[in-house]
Parts: sequence; structure tokens; C-alpha cells
Amino acid sequence: MCVGCRGRAAASELLRVTAGSDAHGRPAVVPDPGRTAAGRGAHLHPERTCYDLAVRRKAFPRALRVPGPLATEDLEHLLDPTDTPTDRSWSSSS
Ligand SMILES: [Zn+2]
Repeated sequence: MCVGCRGRAAASELLRVTAGSDAHGRPAVVPDPGRTAAGRGAHLHPERTCYDLAVRRKAFPRALRVPGPLATEDLEHLLDPTDTPTDRSWSSSS
């Protein structure tokens, strides 16, 4: 089941995520496209819409049985690679 839209889907259609830590050492939702990470995982459609729904519902901490909030930037970046804060090419070319 997708933690965003709560729709049923085959596992092969869903992206697995696990609770881990990001580059800053904060608790984070870590994408696990290879489905190899140990521990509890959650699944969602690899789509921005379902990601937004899951974030709004605080579905990741609940699905992953984590008491506190989880950073989701890594996952967000994976789903929306064009939205990168490090892309400053628009401002450096004047
Ligand atoms: Zn979904």
C-alpha cells in the first residue's frame, strides 16, 4: 500500500523507503530503491503527489514506527530532481 494515496499497488510499482539518517546525521526518510535495507520499510508511489500526501499526513514516521519527525529532503530530491537548491546557474550567467 502507498503511504501517500493509500492506494493498493504491486510492490514493483512502489518505492521502498526506510528510516535512517541524512548527510547531516538527522533522522530521515531514506529511499531504498534496491529494497535491500534492513528494518521496517514503507512504500509509496514514486510520484510527487503521493510524497506530498504522505508528508502532510505525517505518514512516514507512523509507517516506520519512528517517534519524531523525519527529514524528507533526500526523498523529495529523488522524486523532483529539477527542484535543486544548489542549481544557481540562472543567477550566475548575467
Ligand atoms: Zn500513491
